[in-house]
Amino acid sequence: MKGKRVGVIGGGQLAWMMGSAAPSLNIKLLVQTPSQDDPAVSRASGLVQAAIDDAEATAKLATFCDVITFENEFIDLEALQKLVQQGVCFRPSLDTLAPLLDKYHQRSYLKDIGVPVPKFNLGSSSEDITSNFGFPVVLKARRHGYDGQGTFIIKDAQALNILAQHVPIPELLVEEFIPFERELGIIAARNASGEIALYPVTETYQQNQVCHWTITPADIDDQIATKVKAIARTILEQLQVVGVLGIEFFLTADRRVLVNEIAPRTHNSGHYTLDGCHTSQFAMQLRAVTDLPLGDTNLKSGGALMVNLLGFEESASDYLEKRDRILEIPHSFVHWYGKSSRPGRKLGHATVLLDAEQMAQAPSIIKKIESIWYK
Ligand code: ADP
Repeated sequence: MKGKRVGVIGGGQLAWMMGSAAPSLNIKLLVQTPSQDDPAVSRASGLVQAAIDDAEATAKLATFCDVITFENEFIDLEALQKLVQQGVCFRPSLDTLAPLLDKYHQRSYLKDIGVPVPKFNLGSSSEDITSNFGFPVVLKARRHGYDGQGTFIIKDAQALNILAQHVPIPELLVEEFIPFERELGIIAARNASGEIALYPVTETYQQNQVCHWTITPADIDDQIATKVKAIARTILEQLQVVGVLGIEFFLTADRRVLVNEIAPRTHNSGHYTLDGCHTSQFAMQLRAVTDLPLGDTNLKSGGALMVNLLGFEESASDYLEKRDRILEIPHSFVHWYGKSSRPGRKLGHATVLLDAEQMAQAPSIIKKIESIWYK
């Protein structure tokens, strides 16, 4: 691919981190995002200021770019199809994205290709849900959910009836609650020549459906890691992905590995790759969509932990003092997205690289970072 001008739909922190990888790959990044203040704008060579699902704006973006990729999936797929007919190149392709954007379609697709997923169905009456799934049960908005927005873990019939007063249940995906032992994630990439690159398996920890931290490599045996990687490979090949996927899994006590969700883009569970791996997930996405050979996914050290710096108040502070204190931890890095603070908002993240012998200390280092940040 000549020229290497990559358009990104979305201008949040994922595109911002892609922006840091672009220059060393001879790539110019242009973004489509609603606000000039969005994180990626400062690192972009061009901006089309528009909503993510504004396909006319994407048509304009395409006039400046050789290829368009994505940092989020809140797009209008049907409207973008028309651009494909006009010769616009999307990577991953819209055919790859089509079964992934709606959580019900995604679950159905995965089941059809034989990938293990939690038992699921479309929402029906309270009685049906109670008899088919019991409690707790999980209900999810089919589109536009993120960071647990739109995911409801419902503990009894009364809570279900309360939810039904606010959201039409038939519009939701219903699935069995998985009492998982751990949550795992993997970043997986494929390019147009069919080359595949898999990162190490990560343990992720979510609280109230929001990721708080990750540890890589996950403390799992080879058999489980092999299962995760085989599933990732199947998904990449079945979907003919050109780009990066973030895949999230539940690991159960009886050693089942179930896919929770596929994000057709870089993912929070792969932020550790920025400092922790020879090729970051952001560089990997750019390599994959511009036909470069995929990079080395190995860790630079024995392991890496990542802690999200989540907003805990409304504030315009840049929390410099707290960030500096985190940087006193050996082999630490802090990435600050430059957003104003709101409770629960992802404002930045910290990564710490560890030697193999230090991995047992990862939980205490995570606690230390969280105590500096939330105190
Ligand atoms: P989002 O798309 O908003 O990230 P997810 O569907 O990935 O939402 O769910 C977020 C978190 O909620 C998961 O990481 C997990 O901790 C919890 N969760 C989601 N689905 C289930 C389930 N079926 N059983 C148990 N926990 C779940």
